[in-house]
Amino acid sequence: MSIIDEVQGDLSFLLVDDNADFLGLIEPMVRERYPDARIERAETGELALNTLVHSSFDVLLLDYRLPDFDGIEVLGEIRKHLVDVAVVMVTGEGDERLAADIFRMGAYDYLVKGEIDRPVLVRCLDQVLMRRLLERQISAKSDELVRSSRELSERTRALDTAYEKIRLKKEELRELSNNLEETVQERTGELRKTTRFLNKVLDATVDHFILSAGSDGTIRTFNSGAERSFGRGAIDMVGKVHFRELFAELTADVALDDLVGRTLEEGSIQEELTGVGGEGMHFPSEVTLSRLPLEDHEDGLVILGTDVTHEQQLERQNQAYIRQIEMANEDLRLKNEQILEATRLKSEFLANVSHELRTPLNAVIGYSDLLSGGIYGPMQPKQQSAVEGIGTRAKDLLTLINEILDLAKIESGKMVLRVEGFGLAEVLVDVLETGRVLAVDKPLEVTWVHEGRDVGLTTDRQKLQQILVNLVSNAVKFTNEGHVRLHSSVQGFDVVIAVRDSGIGIPEEELMSIFDEFRQVDGTSTREYGGTGLGLAISSKFAESMGGDLVARSELGQGSEFVLRIPMHASVVDPPRDGRVPVALSVPGQGLDLAAITGD
Ligand code: ADP
Repeated sequence: MSIIDEVQGDLSFLLVDDNADFLGLIEPMVRERYPDARIERAETGELALNTLVHSSFDVLLLDYRLPDFDGIEVLGEIRKHLVDVAVVMVTGEGDERLAADIFRMGAYDYLVKGEIDRPVLVRCLDQVLMRRLLERQISAKSDELVRSSRELSERTRALDTAYEKIRLKKEELRELSNNLEETVQERTGELRKTTRFLNKVLDATVDHFILSAGSDGTIRTFNSGAERSFGRGAIDMVGKVHFRELFAELTADVALDDLVGRTLEEGSIQEELTGVGGEGMHFPSEVTLSRLPLEDHEDGLVILGTDVTHEQQLERQNQAYIRQIEMANEDLRLKNEQILEATRLKSEFLANVSHELRTPLNAVIGYSDLLSGGIYGPMQPKQQSAVEGIGTRAKDLLTLINEILDLAKIESGKMVLRVEGFGLAEVLVDVLETGRVLAVDKPLEVTWVHEGRDVGLTTDRQKLQQILVNLVSNAVKFTNEGHVRLHSSVQGFDVVIAVRDSGIGIPEEELMSIFDEFRQVDGTSTREYGGTGLGLAISSKFAESMGGDLVARSELGQGSEFVLRIPMHASVVDPPRDGRVPVALSVPGQGLDLAAITGD
């Protein structure tokens, strides 16, 4: 059985001829050969083409001469519509010359009408079908080949892509490995540098010994400080000696185990150990031991310490000094107490004596005034001058005694404030008057200006007046011509009174000390101007006791200015033991502790 026999059930034929007799002849022949095949007929070219477009056939047996088309035209249409069918052209006798055109147009074979009999037809159809089958197989194979080749090229492409990726990865890896190599080299270089630097640092640290030991205690590093402290070279120590040999306490196993155990447990500990130096000399040292993790997961030690022999000596010396200083301080404290007591006694004595002196002096002054006033009759001019001299000296003496008395009171802590309410103007008018009387023999203008309205004060009027009289009399005393100007104003809770003059002035270097007791700018001035050098000391202490201060400004040859600042309302607190009377600012409206005010 041939291949065609096997497939004949699936075959189909379209027989086209306008001659029904011819078809009636042909069809049975075809049927006989291919009993299960589908066979259809068509009488015109158009019908044939229609049929071909709507269903498929294996073979088209086509009459060349149809009423509407010739065979070439039908072939043309078939090609145009891409109809897949094997065409066998049936020509009339004498049409063989068309054979070339028929084949050119794609016909498989041709039969001459008059020559067709069953064997010719069957042979022709078998050949055509065989060719068609072969062509199909070839085409299938070729399709398969195309598919395979496409798949192959796709695989090749995929392989190419994969290969490219691998190539890129390889390159990346190569680059990475190059970089890694560079980084490793760099890091190694840095590490080497750091190690060299650290070794230098270790060796430069000559005041401290720094050494390390491995897990078995053998010394691994030994800096120059260690060489100095222990009197042995690193070359003899590193890798040869156990660190315990460096410390007297560690000769005992228990002490060594305890020290190492605590270091490993706590990470770092501090100890005082006795170092064993060159020739067995012992020295005290302060040591910090730290755990040193090593490469092999073992732990070593870092030992950092200082020979504290010198520090201990210094400490002992310091202790001795401190004891001496403490003793000296105690001595001083005792002496100070004695001095304070002596001062207190002296002041008490002065206060008493001054008081005793004032009574007879007042009598002397009183009598000399009466005498020079002529109450006991006229006197000779010499007598008159002598009596006046007695009066003047007695008054000077009384001033001195009063000042000494004031100072003694301040020193002995007996001075208290007599606080009372009064107007600032009352005091200043008096002071101005005193100044004018004192300046009566000099070409001096003595004035007072107050800024703003008159103010009421609550403080020690007598002390304020004494301060101002002292300042004004100094100004008049040390000013030969020109002016003495008083200026008062209120600043916040304070009253500020300035006494300016155009007098001789005070050298800058003396300004600070004129407030000291018995201090005068020029010793000779006492002779020229008189005075005791106590006035400013007392004034400044009075100002302080009233909660204020007294400052001086001056220019030599140009004049001076003394500025007194005191709170408008003084408040008194209990006097402290040193005898000074503290006076604090009172906030207006809060009142005064008048119970603290006593008479002297
Ligand atoms: P004294 O009784 O000597 O005046 P003070 O304590 O009042 O004592 O003054 C001390 C010294 O300060 C005076 O001796 C004088 O040298 C100097 N001094 C005080 N006030 C003035 C002034 N207005 N002009 C120049 N010098 C002055």
